Amino acid sequence: MYEKDIFCKIIDGEIPCYKLYEDDDVLAFLDISQVTKGHALVISKKHFDNFLSTPQEVMHKVMDVAQRIGQVDIKLLGAKGVNILSNCYPAAGQSVMHFHVHVIPRYEQGEGIEITMKNNSEGLNLPVIAEQIKDNL
Ligand code: AMP
Repeated sequence: MYEKDIFCKIIDGEIPCYKLYEDDDVLAFLDISQVTKGHALVISKKHFDNFLSTPQEVMHKVMDVAQRIGQVDIKLLGAKGVNILSNCYPAAGQSVMHFHVHVIPRYEQGEGIEITMKNNSEGLNLPVIAEQIKDNL
């Protein structure tokens, strides 16, 4: 039998949350571990494992709410920036296998989230990689 993940339980009201937004397709609530003040999760009500396996129409609805929350973070919470991110698969840090988007307000440097993008392009054949991706879109 299919075992509900924690977000399905939140949707069904079996686990409480600090709700920010709800409609027929989308639910948004505060992340229980606040990386920064106001850290929110936006999820699809229907179960999909992650961003990559979510139908476009649903994904657009979730991203629309993520954008609106990010705008409020800047306007009203005093955030100086916002990270919008969706981890796909455990290799990328996904711990709950239910499509969700993090909206993380940023106030200052060194506040519990650090995203560093190192340049590891040495030795990579960029024209070949670009062709591989481009040809399969
Ligand atoms: P990820 O690691 O990208 O899959 O993110 C899952 C997120 O879900 C983490 O940031 C957790 O803190 C958050 N989380 C787990 N359980 C709950 C819960 N009951 N209420 C709110 N957020 C939760």
